[in-house]
Amino acid sequence: MTAAVLTIGTELTRGELVDTNAAWLATELTQLGFDVVEQRTVADDPGAIATAIQQLAARTKVLVATGGLGPTTDDLTVKSAAQAAGVRVERDPAMLEVIRRRYASRGRDLSEGAAAQADRPTGSDALPNAEGTAPGFAFELDGCRCHFLPGVPREMKAMFDAQVLPRIASLGVRESHQIHLRTFGMPESEIGARLDGIEADFEGVTLGYRAHFPEIEVKVLARVEGDAARAEERAREAAAEVRVRLGDLVYGEKDDSFPGAVGDALRRKGAQLAVAESCTGGMIGELLTAVPGSSEYVLLSAVTYANAAKTVILGVPTDVLRAYGAVSSETARAMCEGARRLGACDYAVATTGVAGPGGGSEEKPVGTVWFGLARPEGTVTMRYRFSGDRDQVRTMAAYVALDLVRRASLGLDLDACRAHSRIERRDHPAPSAPPA
Ligand code: ATP
Ligand code: MG
Repeated sequence: MTAAVLTIGTELTRGELVDTNAAWLATELTQLGFDVVEQRTVADDPGAIATAIQQLAARTKVLVATGGLGPTTDDLTVKSAAQAAGVRVERDPAMLEVIRRRYASRGRDLSEGAAAQADRPTGSDALPNAEGTAPGFAFELDGCRCHFLPGVPREMKAMFDAQVLPRIASLGVRESHQIHLRTFGMPESEIGARLDGIEADFEGVTLGYRAHFPEIEVKVLARVEGDAARAEERAREAAAEVRVRLGDLVYGEKDDSFPGAVGDALRRKGAQLAVAESCTGGMIGELLTAVPGSSEYVLLSAVTYANAAKTVILGVPTDVLRAYGAVSSETARAMCEGARRLGACDYAVATTGVAGPGGGSEEKPVGTVWFGLARPEGTVTMRYRFSGDRDQVRTMAAYVALDLVRRASLGLDLDACRAHSRIERRDHPAPSAPPA
């Protein structure tokens, strides 16, 4: 069954606003088993909106439109939809009452603009908006079920789930099933090469790749004509094969987060972590502590940016800094061992590098980052060379540091992370001062 998404707004056509609604809706509809054949964006222009509705209704069975339902003069969707359907606009007395009460509860009078939010095309069904004021509406045009939702993403999503889903779920003949696998540690091209042949081996399966820097998501979509259960089974079989081929590069599924996976690994091990950051400037701490409950395993994250801070806070010897420089194996080692002593904990990780754009040298070019991982069995330092701008270098460094912690706590191979090029690894004996 075919579907289309229409997003309305001059902010969108001008590129002032990124159209997240279209991507979200298309994903949801695909998940429900619809073939999303078109996404269209039109400006706040009644003629253009009406034409788009007519054309999309003529070629698809389900249309979901967002935007332009509010109380301002650029909100033209009701009028345009009525025009497309060849009906008039009516004010819904029950909806007017709901809006009046909502305004009254906030001590505000109902203006004409606000009251106009109770308008909808004659013969359409109202779609109540539990999260905001402007309700949506739905009607059938040319054999297509058309739904109109507000533009505000939070309201739109809640209304799609509560109002649109029940109306269209049965049409989607859920003959497809999608599994999202989240990976970190290998470039997209290499992942693609490793998964080569899976589509041929599993009939009806398509693999999709989505980069959310620095992660790559692998989407396993299976379609089996008219047999949802079989589609789900086939998606599971293919996803299992993807997991075999990618091994521990897969850290989780759809809603999992990388820092969450690191936290789970630490929790499973009953271990705690201290972080010493230089070039990542607190990113590792931010990523980790964004996860609820992280206080169970995150002890501290010290941003020691200046050499003096590395010495005073972490106890990095001034001799080491002088002899090898801040961006060195020796400094990374002293940083993580110092953080581990401070936290009296099992694991500590440190980053020190040249994030750029300036500050590079022939010996230590921009993108060079030394990592230190201190653990009961000894300290490992690693040197990576990342490409990209300052933000990319820092983000990649934060992820690699987190990955070292994940791998250490799960007992995985520390060398399997192939994010950019690792240049060297050095192993050092157990830190002299074990946790108290
Ligand atoms: P409102 O009652 O807020 O006016 P509305 O239904 O009229 O809602 P718009 O005026 O089109 O919707 O958009 C309201 C806001 O919602 C926009 O300023 C923007 O922040 C967000 N928005 C609208 N459309 C999209 C979209 N396609 N993707 C992401 N955000 C959007
Ligand atoms: Mg608006």
